[in-house]
Amino acid sequence: MLEAAHRYFHDAASVLGLTERLREILVTPRRVVKVEIVTENDEGDLIHHIGFRVQHNNTRGPYKGGLRYHPSMDEDHASALANLMTWKTAIVDVPFGGAKGGIDCDPHEMSITELDRVTRKFVEGIKEVIGPMQDIPAPDVNTNSEVMAWIMDEYSSHYGFAPGVVTGKPVHLFGSLGRDEATGRGVMYALREALKDQGKTLADITVAMQGFGNVGSHAARLIAEQGGKLVAVADHLGAVSNDDGLEVPALVEWTAEHRTVDGFPGGEPFKGADVITWPCDVLIPAALEDAITKENAADVRATIIVEGANGPTTPEANDILNKRGVTIVPDILANAGGVTVSYFEWAQNIQQFQWELERINAELEKKMVRAYADVRDVAKEKSIDFRTASFVLGIRRVGRAALSRQPTRKKISFE
Ligand code: GLU
Repeated sequence: MLEAAHRYFHDAASVLGLTERLREILVTPRRVVKVEIVTENDEGDLIHHIGFRVQHNNTRGPYKGGLRYHPSMDEDHASALANLMTWKTAIVDVPFGGAKGGIDCDPHEMSITELDRVTRKFVEGIKEVIGPMQDIPAPDVNTNSEVMAWIMDEYSSHYGFAPGVVTGKPVHLFGSLGRDEATGRGVMYALREALKDQGKTLADITVAMQGFGNVGSHAARLIAEQGGKLVAVADHLGAVSNDDGLEVPALVEWTAEHRTVDGFPGGEPFKGADVITWPCDVLIPAALEDAITKENAADVRATIIVEGANGPTTPEANDILNKRGVTIVPDILANAGGVTVSYFEWAQNIQQFQWELERINAELEKKMVRAYADVRDVAKEKSIDFRTASFVLGIRRVGRAALSRQPTRKKISFE
């Protein structure tokens, strides 16, 4: 994953003609925090985890990015994802830098009280480096508004009332309306804009989706509301398809109860891995990284891929798809709706004022439409693919800000 993030960074750095030294400066995280978390499980036995917070860059504002609870979480993983956050916040032009973190645990195997204890211990370990003006965590894979509420509570118990220390909180506890569905909504807007470029609308398309969690389920619902057909969906436990389009609201209800799409009566089961090569117009990988690889990229049938997940396409697959002329709307653009509404939530916390949902959604739409257009302009200007253009745009904005904060005697250009 780190390798992929670096490869994409270097592709863009080459377009910008950046020196080796400058590249090194831009990819190196500014701070890496690793803490040991020791607590007891519900049976009273000691449990032990490692927590991470990688602060990649804060040139354009406080560090910002999610917390992922997953057995695969380690320093490299957090670094790669933190790196992506830096360019993502710059692409949607929200006043933040990039960070990421998490714990190497599996919440599916933990009780809520265990999860609460582990989270609070983690906060104890990182509390000196986070804060509303310093670093603002948010939900990511396997974390949610509940976890954010505990973080806010624990942090506030040390430093006093500080709702702006995390985003993605429950709406009744200083969260924002629309934050929950924001990433999925942003995916829908990104896809809508990409389709516009091809003279199509959401009503014209069939979609295959990998992952039906927070990102995927909201994106699917919003796309279906505009007439798009979800023909196949897979999660880590099962997969269902329906050529006439799956009934998305019913599927959402089913997964809320069963925690998987598996067994959904409104579709036919199939082998989950086949979702990547399913016959469809649009493929939305919305699960974890490395979903589209050199093994399956040549068989992808979609002509547009919108990356709901972070890092779902390996560099080898990316090259195969680019050669085949498949349009990829990359993660750092496509899934930036989440951090955009995180920004709105943070702004509301600081203003001590609540925005209405209409305003949130309208501002989110503006941000996504503008970001897409900015990336497309760079892609045209430099004759490059959307992913490289997204990185160029992000690096350019961060680079320019850095030079304004600290001019160099030898001229550096980010053009
Ligand atoms: N975890 C989300 C992401 O990868 C959201 C980050 C945030 O809201 O800070 O973009």
